[in-house]
Amino acid sequence: MCIFCDIANKKIPSKIVYEDSYTLAFLDLSPVNPGHTLIIPKKHFENVLDLDEEYAEHLGKAIVKVTNLLKTKLNVKNLNVINNSGKLSGQTVMHLHFHLIPRKENDNLVINFNESNAKEEDLIRVYEQLTN
Ligand code: AMP
Ligand code: ZN
Repeated sequence: MCIFCDIANKKIPSKIVYEDSYTLAFLDLSPVNPGHTLIIPKKHFENVLDLDEEYAEHLGKAIVKVTNLLKTKLNVKNLNVINNSGKLSGQTVMHLHFHLIPRKENDNLVINFNESNAKEEDLIRVYEQLTN
């Protein structure tokens, strides 16, 4: 049982703002800013770590479509696109979703990536791991 599968299958209601055969976008139930929208694949993927390229393509398109909607209808000019993948990243609903969060002047929303204490050698090691 997965709440976002139920939303995708229209078993439970949501405020859908965009839909195509692969993806669905609906308003977050507890928005951190007005227009806070979630975009999900209709097929269940837990998060980006098990996403496939076909759905990634469709999700990418949906992100652009919904962004255009927020731009034209809500006059959004600043936006955070955020995904949490895995419990340690803050993921609470275990069905892949991207948050689209409109930003306004002085909205006091803090997205805290903490202070980095990475050293140059750490960066080089990771860079080498990724590129070799
Ligand atoms: P995350 O922490 O990235 O897993 O975010 C989960 C998000 O899903 C939160 O922002 C919740 O407010 C939102 N959420 C949970 N249940 C629902 C629901 N039934 N309809 C809309 N949004 C939901
Ligand atoms: Zn699901």
